[in-house]
Amino acid sequence: MSLYIPLLERELTYIKGVGPRKSELLKNELGIHSIRDLLVDYPFRYEDRTQYTQVSDINEDNQVVQLKGVIKGFSLQGGGRKKRLVGKFTDGTGSIELIWFRSIKWIQDNLSINQPYTVYGRASRFRSRINIAHPEIELFSDQKKTSATFVPVYKSTERLGASGLDSKGRRKVIANILEMVSPQDLKEHLPLYLVKKLRFLPYHEALRNIHFPGSNELLREAERRLKFEEFFYFQLDIVRHYQTRKLHEQGALFPLIGSYFNRFYNEFLKFELTGAQKKVLKEIRKDLNSGIQMNRLLQGDVGSGKTIVALMSALIAIDNGYQACLVAPTEILAQQHLQSLCEETKGLGLRISLLTGSVKGKPRKELLRLLQLGEIHILVGTHALFEDPVIFHQLGLAIIDEQHRFGVAQRARLWEKGKEHRPHILVMTATPIPRTLHMTIYGDLDVSVIDELPPGRKPITTLHKTEYRRPEVVKFMQKEIEKGHQIYIVYPLIEESEKLELEDLNNGYEKLLLAFPKPKYQISVVHGRMKPADKDAEMQRFVTGTTHIMVATTVIEVGVNVPNASVMLIENSERFGLSQLHQLRGRVGRGATQSYCILMSSFRLSEDAKERLATMVRTNNGFEIAEVDLRLRGPGSIEGTQQSGLPELKIASITRDADILHTARQIAMRILSQDPDLLQPHHETLRAYLKKYVKSAKDWSRIS
Ligand code: ADP
Ligand code: MG
Repeated sequence: MSLYIPLLERELTYIKGVGPRKSELLKNELGIHSIRDLLVDYPFRYEDRTQYTQVSDINEDNQVVQLKGVIKGFSLQGGGRKKRLVGKFTDGTGSIELIWFRSIKWIQDNLSINQPYTVYGRASRFRSRINIAHPEIELFSDQKKTSATFVPVYKSTERLGASGLDSKGRRKVIANILEMVSPQDLKEHLPLYLVKKLRFLPYHEALRNIHFPGSNELLREAERRLKFEEFFYFQLDIVRHYQTRKLHEQGALFPLIGSYFNRFYNEFLKFELTGAQKKVLKEIRKDLNSGIQMNRLLQGDVGSGKTIVALMSALIAIDNGYQACLVAPTEILAQQHLQSLCEETKGLGLRISLLTGSVKGKPRKELLRLLQLGEIHILVGTHALFEDPVIFHQLGLAIIDEQHRFGVAQRARLWEKGKEHRPHILVMTATPIPRTLHMTIYGDLDVSVIDELPPGRKPITTLHKTEYRRPEVVKFMQKEIEKGHQIYIVYPLIEESEKLELEDLNNGYEKLLLAFPKPKYQISVVHGRMKPADKDAEMQRFVTGTTHIMVATTVIEVGVNVPNASVMLIENSERFGLSQLHQLRGRVGRGATQSYCILMSSFRLSEDAKERLATMVRTNNGFEIAEVDLRLRGPGSIEGTQQSGLPELKIASITRDADILHTARQIAMRILSQDPDLLQPHHETLRAYLKKYVKSAKDWSRIS
């Protein structure tokens, strides 16, 4: 007996009108392998074909119209590359020309004179005549069969189009499939009680209506259901992993709040913690004393004081006989962390060391030896920390700063550094992530938010200036320097061409020297091509106040702390993304003085760029900025999401369908809290579907 293959899993050649060639093309061009794949590759928009326009009513150039009428005759016009077939088309109110430059023979052979056709396309005016080039054309009687009101438009490619699989061709294929499948083939994959409770269309109806909507309402309903389903399965997967981890992943217990923590808090801390910092510390303390491994994301705008929270968490680990590490994305940042940790804890008796790529030879050996003996309390470093010979005596807490710089695989290596238990993980990020995105990408992490800045900070004033205002900008900067402040000037990093980047930087530097002549003004320059040691020396000159201006590409984007800097000038600011601009702006406003962010740009800007710059000028709130960013760029391009396992959504949109996402998450959580392994009979469908079709989040869910 042959093995029965469910209809949806069968190969495309099983469909009427799809032979080996088309099947192969769909595979190669769109990754569509089975009938199911084709069915769930939904239309990306619909054309409203309920309305017909009369030829006499066409009054705008480029108007998209649907006409009903007949072809009166064909003529071949022009020659060579201008050769075209022209059909005279009339609907009784007037006539237009249908024009084909390609497939001339096919058109002539297949279209008939004096038969009623539906024609759809963009009408353009040439001299006094109206024409539609390469219209969609269909016998009026055929059109009635396939599309009641809304005509689906499908993705296609040039190669697909050439083989009859343009949108229209794909439409026919889908129609053929839908003719072939029965409701049994399109089995429900939500439990019936949910379908009822949420008043969803049955799956097979939803699927029919997403391709060939019976009405506007049915289309909305089909969308509502399919979007829900997409979010729901994803959330089910995330929440399940999250719960499993909570149940099974033991972590070291840190019950003690000992002398390191207490002495630091009572004798060393120079300021009162903000309410938000206290709240977050409490959350972390609770995690560290729960017996379950912590995976916490600490979110806080630049300057909100995450570092002190990290340090105090590390002190808890140390009080309990464990080591901690702090990982930064760049060497400069690691050094700065080391320096500030040492300053803040001076006299506390902590042993803090630095491990980066440039620690080599004997010192490195010695450091690794001490680390393994447990003689080092806190190891600060870069990626170098992830390497194999780095063995801790007893690593209890790993803190990762600016998390979006690290790949998931690298982070995963940290897990192996623990001994009995995996270390607790605290990931810090200054990239505010919209709440909706949280639920999706960090759905399995606990999140703490520092949503309050330390007191006394003056909000940064942001200004947008075009090139011809430069003289006044220069004057302004000179004044700030006279007041004793320092200035950052940042050039965009052009990824495609390091050479160009340098050119920009060097040109800018030359001009800068004219406006800020030596020796009155001192300038540091830092760019990505410098040796770490040189970079560091230049940074140091700025940090110590020897130089007034720091000219840089985006290497300073994350972390560095120079409270005396009061101006951040960003050149070609239209080339930066919103989150980058916000990060850069966060480099100033760290002291008590009024700070400024000046966005230089050219005069002509794209709409998106205008909105980005206007957003920066309008608000300092990182979350608000993140929402705009998400709207402008879509979730896939938000920093940190690429490697985070965000699934490719076929129909739902994180930006537009936040409500549905929220409902899906709530329901997923409720179901799993009652039936964690989905073993109840009425959850059978869920379990089977998850297992089969949801690409599991397992691999990335453990660490951010
Ligand atoms: P970020 O969250 O960007 O890492 P930092 O931890 O670097 O911020 O803190 C920025 C500055 O604010 C540091 O100089 C730090 O000492 C200071 N700071 C942190 N918390 C407070 C507080 N509660 N009150 C006053 N200053 C604080
Ligand atoms: Mg920081």
